[in-house]
Amino acid sequence: MQPGLWKLAVLTALLHPVLPLEFQHHRYPEMVSALLRVQSECPFISRLYSIGRSAQGRHLYVLELSDNPGIHELLEPEFKYVGNMHGNEVLGRELLIQLAQFLCDEYNRRNPRITHLIHETRIHILPSMNPDGYEVAADQGSEANTYLTGRANARGVDLNRNFPDLHLAFQKLKGRNHHVSLDDNWREQTEQETYAVIRWMQSYNFVLSANLHGGAVVANYPFDKATEPIGRGPYRRIISTTPDHKLFQKLAKVYSYSHGWMHNGSNCGDYFPEGITNGASWYSLSRGMQDFNYLHTNCFEITLELSCKKFPPQHELQREWYGNREALLAFIEEVHKGIKGMVLDENNNGIPKAVISVSTINHDITSGIGGDYFRLLLPGKYMVTASAPGYKGQTVLVSVGAGEPTRVDFHLVPFLAAPSTSVPTISLPSVITSSVSLHRLNSRTTKKGPPMLRERRRTGWRFHGH
Ligand SMILES: [Zn+2]
Repeated sequence: MQPGLWKLAVLTALLHPVLPLEFQHHRYPEMVSALLRVQSECPFISRLYSIGRSAQGRHLYVLELSDNPGIHELLEPEFKYVGNMHGNEVLGRELLIQLAQFLCDEYNRRNPRITHLIHETRIHILPSMNPDGYEVAADQGSEANTYLTGRANARGVDLNRNFPDLHLAFQKLKGRNHHVSLDDNWREQTEQETYAVIRWMQSYNFVLSANLHGGAVVANYPFDKATEPIGRGPYRRIISTTPDHKLFQKLAKVYSYSHGWMHNGSNCGDYFPEGITNGASWYSLSRGMQDFNYLHTNCFEITLELSCKKFPPQHELQREWYGNREALLAFIEEVHKGIKGMVLDENNNGIPKAVISVSTINHDITSGIGGDYFRLLLPGKYMVTASAPGYKGQTVLVSVGAGEPTRVDFHLVPFLAAPSTSVPTISLPSVITSSVSLHRLNSRTTKKGPPMLRERRRTGWRFHGH
């Protein structure tokens, strides 16, 4: 190229910067291509999988980013982002596609922060939970988009009002708010998209999550459902708190203060101090996803409202990405807080579904299949107990700092552990039925050797939950 042409090219680039390809809205085929591109550029740290299909048959694709994709590594927490649950709230979808590409690019550039994040976390990104609604909204385009067009799924159902309402069950359980079980007919009450997401939540031991929306700029934390019907406006001070209220406030603030302008609080003609709000104090909703996460699983989810315009014009996407990028990363890093560790039996095998209780917080979490657990906590001192049917509970005093999680392993001793005497004295905890006790006794007395014992024990778990 002649010197004069170089100058012209540089001048043209300065005057008309070419946006990277990614700063554009992605229709469904383009979104799939973008995710496949990440997978092809980062084959060793990514996996694209589908959790099911929408009502119109589009896949609900999740991109996983991790140093060992497809595998849960013990003590490596599972994290998720869910975008575009309301089909016409599209910024989350674009930000998540962008985030996936960014994580891949920066990993390939050996960015130490991103490398550490990918090595220590299993990140699941679902850019669109409602791909059918998106297509309806995208047909209208950004300018014509209204509050409702494309919000619901193809069958006209608002997916953030479609999760089983566990608040009723939780009230019946007199305050027990963890692992609230579902009605037998829950499948019939949910849409395909909701069903797919619930099954997904049940298959992975997610620890932390955010669910991305638009129409306001605020980080919203549980509960979304008020204990009594209230509306918007002057009743805003009525809040509906979880036992992890302060932790949720902090998680929401991590996002709002890492975001370019959310923390200012004044956005879209509304005001939220510090850019956060309790869901119910803004407006109460039933059958939402974030409450379901908290009441049914180990996962702590918040809802991020990210843009005044539900369908921002394409030229605003780059600014939005830079406004959200640090917040999206900082929020993932919050999964590495509190305490984590193993719950082990006398043979150092992990105990699944062991219950981890914190004395001052009425909300338990459970260990995963391999016996590892993750309990998000604010800095402080806590009495933490691990318990499991058939074992003596173990309580320890734990000091939690602001940085990396404190590692606390529990070694549980079975109630039936045979002392040195030939006839063991058996003391049974109240939660164990006699048949299970006999089963355990048999497994100890008639079968020798750890492998068989392990197998028997696992069989036993199936018959009595906690
Ligand atoms: Zn929404």
